[in-house]
Amino acid sequence: MTDIPNVRLIGIDFEREGKSHGYIGIQHSTTRSCYYWVPLPITCIKNSSGPTVLLISGIHGDEYEGQIALSKLAANLQPVDITGRVLILPMANFPAAKTGARTSPIDDGDLNRLFPGEANGSVSQQIAAYMEHALMAISDFVIDLHAGGSSIMHVAAAIVVAEEDAVRFQQQMALAQAFGAPYTIVYASRSQPHFGKIALTASARQGAIAIGAELGGAGSVTSNSLSLTELGLIRVLHKIGVLAGISNAPPPMRTQVLSSDRPDTMIWAMEAGLFEPAVTVGSSVRRGDVAGRIHVVDSPGYPSTEYRFDEDGVVTVARFMTQVQRGDCLYRIAFRPGHSPGSHE
Ligand SMILES: [Zn+2]
Repeated sequence: MTDIPNVRLIGIDFEREGKSHGYIGIQHSTTRSCYYWVPLPITCIKNSSGPTVLLISGIHGDEYEGQIALSKLAANLQPVDITGRVLILPMANFPAAKTGARTSPIDDGDLNRLFPGEANGSVSQQIAAYMEHALMAISDFVIDLHAGGSSIMHVAAAIVVAEEDAVRFQQQMALAQAFGAPYTIVYASRSQPHFGKIALTASARQGAIAIGAELGGAGSVTSNSLSLTELGLIRVLHKIGVLAGISNAPPPMRTQVLSSDRPDTMIWAMEAGLFEPAVTVGSSVRRGDVAGRIHVVDSPGYPSTEYRFDEDGVVTVARFMTQVQRGDCLYRIAFRPGHSPGSHE
């Protein structure tokens, strides 16, 4: 019994010197195609000996900066540019990415809730298992690129799930600073129930130093968010030492560190209706500030419901879709250094 699912590797050999493009084939029998395999695109670039870096995007299929940036990197990065090995997995949840959806159309799997996966499980579970036990397991560093997706906008930020080991935490923070996003959000480990199931904690479980990034959202990209992604990747690869030579990327801007130590820093909709936001991501808010309103338009004369922030902080997530159901997240905030939970700054 192995933790690694029985996949087909097509055109790819992780030990081969040079650059190769290929696919990780996850078996999936369907009515249309009885011996079908789901093709996860992957690029391996190897030169001499050095650290192995795994670059991931498309864990959520409707988050695009990483997919575009990694596609360009896979085409342009050459073996002579590096010392070590770079693995590029641009559409990690391929069925979701191909559909432009957060979750897989095959099994509704949210890949970032499924680690460590199951070798004999559903397609999404097998992808998670292969990523953790075959790819993360041979990686020294993992960079996992995300954005807000279709439903939310996320402030541009490097993401650190803080490791308890001080040296490893310092390495995480050094990579986050090199990435150079306007914000770095530090999540306390185990601060959310699903944290053991995400790619960053899976990478740490396999011994890799891992950071993530949230780069925008609303199911779209901008020239700014793409530029940050591409330059941030170059800076991080230089910092790790896998990218040789002189960096042509400008130095990183100073990143503002925010922290989030618990899951209750969100505001959720308590009724269905149309959401009128009052603030945008990156806004500083104080306890009592109006966050937004929900209008129940199909009930004439029904008063709108006002939502307020109950702590001081910085808005890191704001809902982008106007239609809301009870249970939808409207906002999430994180805290500046020195914030004491539940109180004013
Ligand atoms: Zn995501």
